[in-house]
Amino acid sequence: MPSPLDRVRSALMDEGLQEALLRAATNNQVKVESLLRERPELAEAARRARRAKDEAIGRLEELIDEAMRSLRAINAEPHYAETPEEAREAVARIVGSGKLVVMSKSMAAEEAGIREYLEELGNEVWETDLGQLLVQLEGGRPMHTIAPAVHMTRERALRLVNEKLGANLPEDAGIEEIAGAARRFLREKIVKADVGISGANALAADTGAIVLVENEGNIRLVTTASPIHIAVVPVDKIVPTLQDALTVAIAQAGYAGLYPPTYINVIAGPSSTADIEQVRVWGAQGPKELHVVLLDNGRLRARETPLRDQLRCIRCGRCQFECPVWVHTANNWGGPVYGGPMGLNWTAITWSMEEASKLAFLCLGCGRCDEACPVEIPLSRLIRWLKTQAHRPGRS
Ligand code: SF4
Repeated sequence: MPSPLDRVRSALMDEGLQEALLRAATNNQVKVESLLRERPELAEAARRARRAKDEAIGRLEELIDEAMRSLRAINAEPHYAETPEEAREAVARIVGSGKLVVMSKSMAAEEAGIREYLEELGNEVWETDLGQLLVQLEGGRPMHTIAPAVHMTRERALRLVNEKLGANLPEDAGIEEIAGAARRFLREKIVKADVGISGANALAADTGAIVLVENEGNIRLVTTASPIHIAVVPVDKIVPTLQDALTVAIAQAGYAGLYPPTYINVIAGPSSTADIEQVRVWGAQGPKELHVVLLDNGRLRARETPLRDQLRCIRCGRCQFECPVWVHTANNWGGPVYGGPMGLNWTAITWSMEEASKLAFLCLGCGRCDEACPVEIPLSRLIRWLKTQAHRPGRS
């Protein structure tokens, strides 16, 4: 297994990667800048999202309890996981073995190693986000928060779907044909799946409603086609109200450069019907069961440190595309799950202060990430603080 610094070195030597990242970062910057110029309401949504997240961080324990009560009230089942192991176990108890499972992209599921664990238990598991599927097929890891296959060229993606999915596409097949091959392969899996697993952009404590933003339409299918839906939600995604959750979703889509998003999904309980004799039964066309696994993994503890500000993060990935180091390394720099400016801080919160503090020394301290962040996380200041933790005894 290459060391974190070896991963950075090989990224710097990879010419294809350098080209792909430069193109993606340039396209994203142009898109987001013009969106923000044309739509001042997005900056206003970001300001409101910041206020909601700040309030949530201050009342997090109380809101976790409220969210769990609200989930029970809408016939969903909450599960609380302090660690990734507990999250994996909670999901495994629901899924069992020998099942077909489809997933929509979730960094929290990635953080807890859900897919690999379910596979070890003898389940067949497929990612349904195109980028995340390509990452699964190459046996890699997501290279950006919202664009997991940002490092991949058309040629590489074509080779993967031909070799791993038997797509049989010609050498000159375009991106649309590659997406079509993935769609044909996944459609059957989604329809037959026993369980669908998603993340969440936000969870409203007042109602238990989960909000998910997307463009591909796979989240919509994954969360409704199977008899069981499991959402893995880190506790920093909890906000006080459904209105706040929708605001976070709008701000995230805008600053990700994907506005208006094609779909915003609100899920408040399993499907039900009361059409016969006005007697409500659960499990109509959508899932019969909804489970929400709330994952802490260091987040509550982070509130007592300068990393508290990182909990405001809405995972738009702006700071990554703006960072002159990330643009040459992608998520090869930052930690095993998250990468770039926000990734260093998330690594310190959820994985290892030691690893994050060592990698923090590659930060140039230019402050571009601070300027880019829609919820005003002082990312470079937090990274400077990480550097001061590098040689402290007892760090972990
Ligand atoms: S301050 Fe560091 S992390 Fe932020 S953009 Fe500059 S190099 Fe990247």
